[in-house]
Amino acid sequence: MCEKGAERGGTNWCGVAARQPRPLALPIRDELKTTEVVVKKIILIIIQLLVSVSIAFGQGNGKLQIHFIDVGQGDAALLISPKGETVLFDNGVAKFCNMPVSYLQQLGLGEIDYHIATHYHDDHIGCSSEVLSVFPLKKQAFDRGYTYSSGVYTKYEKAVGAKRKKATQGDKIVLDSTSETPVYIEFVALNGGGINTSNENDLSLVSVVHYGKFDAVIGGDLSGFDENDYKDIESTVANKVGQVEVYKVHHHCSSYSTNDTWLSVVKPKVGIISASGTIGRNHNHPTQNCLERLHKAGVKTYWTEIGGGATPEPAWDVVGGNIVVEAEPNKDTFTVVYNWSNKDTYPLWETKEQ
Ligand SMILES: [Zn+2]
Repeated sequence: MCEKGAERGGTNWCGVAARQPRPLALPIRDELKTTEVVVKKIILIIIQLLVSVSIAFGQGNGKLQIHFIDVGQGDAALLISPKGETVLFDNGVAKFCNMPVSYLQQLGLGEIDYHIATHYHDDHIGCSSEVLSVFPLKKQAFDRGYTYSSGVYTKYEKAVGAKRKKATQGDKIVLDSTSETPVYIEFVALNGGGINTSNENDLSLVSVVHYGKFDAVIGGDLSGFDENDYKDIESTVANKVGQVEVYKVHHHCSSYSTNDTWLSVVKPKVGIISASGTIGRNHNHPTQNCLERLHKAGVKTYWTEIGGGATPEPAWDVVGGNIVVEAEPNKDTFTVVYNWSNKDTYPLWETKEQ
């Protein structure tokens, strides 16, 4: 039944023209205008929020920031020193380069000081030309040296050009060199770390970030088991890494990565898993057995995406999109920000076992 009170703009809710229609044009236009203004205001607020989050993160903000970017099934992490120097570890998955590029744009990044390629697979250096053409490389590009036979590698070689430098074990990049607390990035192993292998994953360059009492390790797709053509590189490299707070989980938490020796020596508090079941090739990462080893060792994990493998366990695993780790020079804690605004705080290791 149609009631008179339900009349609106000359048409009642039953769709029948009302007896005394109000002028049509003005109220509808006014209503549209009001809606338009409200929508514009909401969009503006969202943009302001995003910009303020980006500015808070994107520039040197007195803290060490490591942004583990959601790039799909692959790796890319941007380190920003407290004074604003930048290092990009890997750059994303070939054909899905909009993900790292737009994230770095949101941060307000102009250039990249250093690039570090862990190894030459297309889920790690797949966006070299796309990223470096938008954010030019200022200083050097470190990698494991040698060559690799793929179109993606050729593009990488061209993109880094004369700035390319083979990393040497024991070498360090120093950021904020005039600061009381510089950031050191130490290359602790590469090309198998003394173990003979030709598996590209196992040749990964392993970097340890040192900032005051905070440490993090980023070692690409290293293996920890002698299976198929994989080799246990982790057990040898672990002692060179020592105890850390944050571990970029090797090989997207494949079943060949993250062995118990590695976990008992490196003792990460937090593991970052960069994987996807839908963007890039689905390798069913993270795997259940890798996760179980991490959980057993008391490691809380943060995933960039749900992945194509095991289901996250709410007590241990957080699926958080872009994961941002921050550490401050005089604090005994570090933080992990996920899904833009959720923040977890962890204590640093009191004393380091080296
Ligand atoms: Zn990979």
